[in-house]
Amino acid sequence: MNKIPPLDLTQQYQQIEADVSKAVLAVLASGQYIGGPQVQQFETQFAEYIGTRHAVVCNSGTDALYLAMRALDIGPGDEVITTPFTFVATAETISAVGATPVFVDVDPLTFNIDADQVAAAITDKTRAVIPVHLFGYPADMTRLMAVAEAHGLTVIEDCAQATGAQWQGQKVGAIGHVGCFSFFPTKNLGACGDGGAITTNDPELVGRLRSLREHGQRQRYLHDEVGVNSRLDAVQAVILQIKLRHLDTWNQQRHAVAERYHQLLAPVPDVVVPQVATQGRCVWNQYTVRIVHPAAADLQARRDRRDAVRQFLQDQGVSSMVYYPIPLHLQPVYQSLGYREGQLPVAERLACEVLSLPMFPELPPEAQAQVVHALKDAIAL
Ligand SMILES: *Cc1c(COP(=O)(O)O)cnc(C)c1O
Repeated sequence: MNKIPPLDLTQQYQQIEADVSKAVLAVLASGQYIGGPQVQQFETQFAEYIGTRHAVVCNSGTDALYLAMRALDIGPGDEVITTPFTFVATAETISAVGATPVFVDVDPLTFNIDADQVAAAITDKTRAVIPVHLFGYPADMTRLMAVAEAHGLTVIEDCAQATGAQWQGQKVGAIGHVGCFSFFPTKNLGACGDGGAITTNDPELVGRLRSLREHGQRQRYLHDEVGVNSRLDAVQAVILQIKLRHLDTWNQQRHAVAERYHQLLAPVPDVVVPQVATQGRCVWNQYTVRIVHPAAADLQARRDRRDAVRQFLQDQGVSSMVYYPIPLHLQPVYQSLGYREGQLPVAERLACEVLSLPMFPELPPEAQAQVVHALKDAIAL
């Protein structure tokens, strides 16, 4: 029995090791470690890849979200509508700029924010909406943009898990007013450390973002506003340049892995496979199934069953993950916002049922067969 990890970054590194070593050593020898031509080149290449006029790189996906909101002057007194079924950074950055996150429920099939729920949550304080293309699955940008336009809202796409994903032929991050990306190592385009980027077509916003990420200075040592230090290292920039050239291939491999899971899991009862995007292209940062309880009992029973399945897989050497076990509106940090259990029922139910199976481009078919075999046994218990 082989141990199967949730993901394995070493195989990808082996493919590009020669190129990466050479490029990193050249940066080390150049003496230019922060900023410089390699960082600018990556910004140009990334904007071209996403299909926006500009990309501004920064220190992380979290900073990308924070900087985007700062540059849009979103702050105290403003509300930003987002999903509770996401990584905490999506909401945390809304709070970090002084605004208030407003959580609305998600679509049970796509796990993404529901545009009707967004429309229903708009108040005169609402400034923006942050859809998350969760697990690489594109949110319904057509409906979201329509709601946003009708109410004069800004759309900030959280593309952290979806570099390369498309909605109706357009890459995510090029559809809303700004796109925020993460280059955390486990994302589809991952650096060998932290990194992030903001994409936009708005040149004014770009000037503001460049200033904010460097201590609020447009000119050296002339500070217009309070900024932060959030830059991408040249070493990461050259690694990302190399990886960007492989990204479409790796995303295609993820697609093949997802298709194989779909086929293998089709006959397995009580396992609901993720939706296949019909109006776009999912890039499968995660392959997340739902373990449903046959007796449709309460949430705790659903959670217990999912956790039992996960433990069984673990005992069989198969790692799986729960993204995310507690929706953000029920997190201790947001207790003061006053949400109650039962208020966002889809997100709360998903939190009890989801299980992300091993997923990475190089995952071999035999390993997938082992995962599904273990899952079948777990369900049959
Ligand atoms: C990873 C992630 C982030 C944050 O990115 P970092 O680079 O880790 O700061 C934000 N939103 C979502 C949905 C993410 O998955």
